[in-house]
Amino acid sequence: MLAPRPPGSEAAFHPVPDGSVLPYLTDSGLALVDEALTIVGGAVVAGRPDRSVIGVRYRNRPVLVDPATYRTAEQAATDGGGASAPPGRDLIGGGAAALPGVGGWPGLSDRPVRLLGSPVIAVADRDALASALAAPEPGVVVLALPRGWLLAGGLDTLTKEVIAADRPVAIVLAHRGNPLDRVGTVAGLVALLRETRAVPIGLIRCDVSVIGAVAHGAALGAVGLLPSTRHQWWPPGGGGRAARDPHLFVPDLLTYVPAARLRALVDDEQDQLLVCACQACDGRSLLRFASEPGTIAGPRPGSPGDGGTVLAAALHNLHATEETSIPVIESSPGKRAACWQRMCLRAVDTLTTVRERRGDRAPAVGAWLTQWCDLPA
Ligand SMILES: [Zn+2]
Repeated sequence: MLAPRPPGSEAAFHPVPDGSVLPYLTDSGLALVDEALTIVGGAVVAGRPDRSVIGVRYRNRPVLVDPATYRTAEQAATDGGGASAPPGRDLIGGGAAALPGVGGWPGLSDRPVRLLGSPVIAVADRDALASALAAPEPGVVVLALPRGWLLAGGLDTLTKEVIAADRPVAIVLAHRGNPLDRVGTVAGLVALLRETRAVPIGLIRCDVSVIGAVAHGAALGAVGLLPSTRHQWWPPGGGGRAARDPHLFVPDLLTYVPAARLRALVDDEQDQLLVCACQACDGRSLLRFASEPGTIAGPRPGSPGDGGTVLAAALHNLHATEETSIPVIESSPGKRAACWQRMCLRAVDTLTTVRERRGDRAPAVGAWLTQWCDLPA
């Protein structure tokens, strides 16, 4: 959700308030963008090389466009560099110059902003990091970082370079699986946010850990609604995850569960674990996604669940994530971290109980989740 806007901060280009949690979308489905802007009030959207405008105003809401130019340094050299891609087409096909407004970045509410792409930066490659941070264009530098940057051997350099650059950055974590499943990465992220407090840092293209990041001082978080947009697959090769089967966010578990595994969690549709009160589900069970791969069991005609499994799952994920973020964002800044930690502890308790009852087909407690619980209060 958008964090509460300070009084008198209205501006023509719709700045994103500090501490907002937005959805991270691809630009393939404007229906979802519409819903995101209506429900949450803003969005981060992955652009394409021919749609490199980073901030556009769409339906009078802030949209930040991530150029998503995650490449190796060699690819970037061949292509002529990613940070200075020329303005291209906007989300809806218009020319950049024709758009009257753009999204703003928290802390930069006096001017519009562009996200600047850069190659994936190898761990401890200080020169490449400094080069990306020295992009000549004004804007937010998107740093695509393998998770080793958050651990010993990378964190100190990253912290110093971000402080030295003194410009806003958006971090995309890169790994084959959940980058924050490695012990020490969550503590490293929190330490980075603490040490760089004066620099508005966003964590984008991630999972609900962005709520934890915002709780610990991140300027902005953006949660991917699809598995492919919850981190950057890295290193390249191996095909990535096909993820034809949607993954559903289960709020009480703070965990994404593949549709085919939902039935392993509960006996029937009455089980409260999967009965979802989000606006998209309106009290229906997530089991409606669990019948056959690629289909939904019994959507109500005309309901959001009627328009295809992937869209319906994304709508649930959008609403459920938004509602999950509210208690943290509406807490005073000094209480957000404790609020998030309580939510994580409750989720671990529930996951543990479900696994005791249902066995190994129920999701295990994620290492990322344990780390949020283990942070010093
Ligand atoms: Zn729901």
